[in-house]
Amino acid sequence: MPRHYDIAIVGGGFVGGTLACALAAMPRRIALIESRPVSSANGTGAYRDERSIALALASKRMFDALGVWEQIGSHSIAIQKIHISDRGRFGAMRMDCRNHESEGFGYMVPAEKLVLSLQEHLRHHENIQCIQPYKVSDIESHADRVILHGEGEPIQTDLLIAADGTHSFIRNKLGIPANEKKYHQTAIVGNVSVDGDHQFTAYERFTRQGPLTLLPHAGNNCGFVWVLPDSIARELMARTDEDFLLQLQQAFGYRLGYFSKIGKRSAFPLSLLVSQRRVQERVVLIGNAAQTLHPIGAQSLNLALRDVAELSEVLNTGDDGPDGISERLCAYASGRQSDIKRTIRLTDIFNFLFTTNDPVLSRTRGIGLAMLGAIPLLENIILRQSTGVPSSVANLLQGNPPQSA
Ligand SMILES: Cc1cc2nc3c(=O)[nH]c(=O)nc-3n(C[C@H](O)[C@H](O)[C@H](O)COP(=O)(O)OP(=O)(O)OC[C@H]3O[C@@H](n4cnc5c(N)ncnc54)[C@H](O)[C@@H]3O)c2cc1C
Repeated sequence: MPRHYDIAIVGGGFVGGTLACALAAMPRRIALIESRPVSSANGTGAYRDERSIALALASKRMFDALGVWEQIGSHSIAIQKIHISDRGRFGAMRMDCRNHESEGFGYMVPAEKLVLSLQEHLRHHENIQCIQPYKVSDIESHADRVILHGEGEPIQTDLLIAADGTHSFIRNKLGIPANEKKYHQTAIVGNVSVDGDHQFTAYERFTRQGPLTLLPHAGNNCGFVWVLPDSIARELMARTDEDFLLQLQQAFGYRLGYFSKIGKRSAFPLSLLVSQRRVQERVVLIGNAAQTLHPIGAQSLNLALRDVAELSEVLNTGDDGPDGISERLCAYASGRQSDIKRTIRLTDIFNFLFTTNDPVLSRTRGIGLAMLGAIPLLENIILRQSTGVPSSVANLLQGNPPQSA
């Protein structure tokens, strides 16, 4: 007999892990299924991610409400200033959270720490079973249940949530089409030590090759995300650390003094991928499985966490049987459309504007940046997006713990 759960979440990454935490208070049996082997709490083991993730204030509030922030807060750094500039052109935009009476524009959190903290948090909930390692390799979809097959015993569930990433096995297996636009860009990500004081500033610099972001880490260290055309990224990934550091320094300039001590570099090919459906019968797609965005502006996970907040509210309230839940899931999916579309449009346009070589557009960009520095109203639009868009009134995003009906 397959093990039976009320809800099975496939994918124990940022999104699946957070959703499991948000549902933990429910009197339901929940399985969180992850293909990677378990990592230990001290950071050793299978899960390796050198990135730091920029979390919007609303996302931070949500982790606070879930009781996860206690573990990650001490490893986080508040972003207090934003500096956007265009190398070799006039115009820069500077924003300081003190001018907006805000604690910061968001927080930098080590990706690895976030995932391990979610796993640790889930250990305290008996109704959640973390099934790991278990790679889902087949699905049987019935009118009243879904059966998952993998390397172990089959798993049966009333509701399946696919949080299995960009190349979602579940989305593909169920034949849910996705629209994909390849950017032909790769993000090179890593950490670097700097001479100067970053003053908790996030720098977005538009270089000839592509946008380069430097994000504040503890001490005199910064994380970098350098978005480049695929061929240039391939060439730079093949260089020695010394050579790469030199290129990075030339692209960024000397605003933070000399760069030294570069960490491991990782490369991420970039595309925009949007699933044509996010709810199909007893299956809900969420996170990168539903939409994968360009990393410019650090919107993707923050957007997915707004999905998590809304979806967990739908699942936490009401006990209206299979018909009622499917209506509410459809309402959830259509209710999320406008936030998702707006965020996709914003990152897509931002990427286009800041990578185009069109002489008119790139000149306008310089003027635009100079104007942004001078027009508080436009600053406020950027502020809204970086702090987490109050487009959702979900309790978790307001910092209220989940409540079960
Ligand atoms: C360079 C870069 C920088 C970024 N920086 C930011 C940022 O600063 N802020 C921000 O908001 N967003 C950022 N993002 C986006 C962020 O990384 C994504 O939003 C996030 O990873 C999505 O999480 P997820 O859980 O949906 O998917 P994933 O992180 O891909 O997790 C999917 C999980 O599913 C598991 N899985 C897959 N298939 C199976 C299977 N068949 N069976 C069982 N398990 C399976 C995988 O092992 C994995 O653990 C960045 C992205 C990139 C590329």
